[in-house]
Amino acid sequence: MTVRTRIAPSPTGDPHVGTAYIALFNLAFARSQGGKFILRIEDTDQTRSTSASEQTILDSLRWLGLDWDEGPDVGGEYGPYRQSERRDIYTKYAQQLLADGHAFRCYLSREELDTIRNQRREQGLPAAMQQDALALPADEQLRREQAELPFVIRMKIPTSGTCVFEDMLRGKIEIEWSMVDAQILLKSDGMPTYHLANVVDDHLMKISHVLRGEEWINSAPKHQLLYKYFNWKMPVLCHMPLLRNPDKSKLSKRKNPTSILYYQRMGFLPEGLLNYLARMGWSMPDEREKFSRAEMFDNFDIKRVSLGGPIFDQTKLSWLNGLWLRENLNTAEFAQAYQKWALNPEYLMKIIPLIQQRVDTFSDVAPLANFFLAGMLDLDETDFKHKSLEIMDIRKILQFSAWQLDSHTQWDKDALYTCLQQLADHMQLKIRELLFPLFVAISGSSQSVSIMDSMAILGPDMSRARVRHALNILGSPSKKENKRWDKEYQALNSQH
Ligand code: GLU
Repeated sequence: MTVRTRIAPSPTGDPHVGTAYIALFNLAFARSQGGKFILRIEDTDQTRSTSASEQTILDSLRWLGLDWDEGPDVGGEYGPYRQSERRDIYTKYAQQLLADGHAFRCYLSREELDTIRNQRREQGLPAAMQQDALALPADEQLRREQAELPFVIRMKIPTSGTCVFEDMLRGKIEIEWSMVDAQILLKSDGMPTYHLANVVDDHLMKISHVLRGEEWINSAPKHQLLYKYFNWKMPVLCHMPLLRNPDKSKLSKRKNPTSILYYQRMGFLPEGLLNYLARMGWSMPDEREKFSRAEMFDNFDIKRVSLGGPIFDQTKLSWLNGLWLRENLNTAEFAQAYQKWALNPEYLMKIIPLIQQRVDTFSDVAPLANFFLAGMLDLDETDFKHKSLEIMDIRKILQFSAWQLDSHTQWDKDALYTCLQQLADHMQLKIRELLFPLFVAISGSSQSVSIMDSMAILGPDMSRARVRHALNILGSPSKKENKRWDKEYQALNSQH
């Protein structure tokens, strides 16, 4: 059997370090077995998927050296590799399941589903709703069919017993069927859900091993059942441990930068970041910390993955990256790599328009632009001195802005302006007052170039990290304060 693994990112945001982590282990496994590694874009969620996100995911994975043998941009025997281009394939298989009696048309409205859900809760029944719970009386089902009302296609689930499946790292996993819902396979717009598209594609693309994050364990029973319904062989499953914040919670952008673009902007070498990701739950036989991609692949054994949640720690990552920077580049290579990182035309073309009108000589540029080439800024309380705002007000503005920016996804200048203007209105502050601490947090000075442009250039994770960093310097809110502010912030948002 030829080993074929894949990474299947959904292009719905910034490229996540977790995606690179899973891609790395899929690639390492494939390479260590003489197999192939495939990249497939799972863009069935048409409301959230964007081609810009797809492009940054491809660019970031490639920057890290995680090259794929088949994919939307390189082609291959089993394409197309973008799910939105495979719609007809999924419809055909959904129809087949209907014809074989393994799936059913569900005409329930959102309100009807809510009612059933609430009734089940009151009766103490499991939350998972299966075909019996979702069935309409036969005549009503027929009426809705004849009236051609919108419907979804759901899969049928065994109503009793236990699903047992094997995981390469975890051995046998058992999940009661009563916990599994009659999953939607095809939405009313004709688009498949992740579950159907994923199983169909893994089969048609001849994927032999699925290495993915442990958050997918609960989906495995549905997938196993679909393979059974189609009479297909299921790939070997391997659920990797999730990356964690230092406080052991799931790695999240609210606490830790998660975007690969952030690590690029911070000035990490791809070799350093990749080496660190390889150390997440995996070790070399001799336990050495610094090793290259090739060394990892030569020594790869999936059994060396340990299941304790690996902590993604910025300090450790910086330390490891430092070794790569100091030991693996000679002076000329360092100079060249630095030039590519800092002084490349693409980046300069974003910065110069903000600077040019404010300078008399080139020597004026660096002092104005240095925060574009920095990581966390060297600030202290005096930098935040303001004529009317107290430090307490400033801390609150920073915390509220951090929350506001956390939930903000559209990261261009105008959208950022609207988002912060709204917050200023809610807090009954002038926009200039609200922006003062942000200017300092983002650029190090209240006199800097346009802050919205700067945030747009620095990107979401770097901007958020700087706001959090400023807050740390001034004193993060205590537990009590946090609770009070959170309540106030929620109230502000719900009023409007
Ligand atoms: N599209 C899924 C994701 O974004 C893929 C999960 C899987 O590997 O099955 O993570």
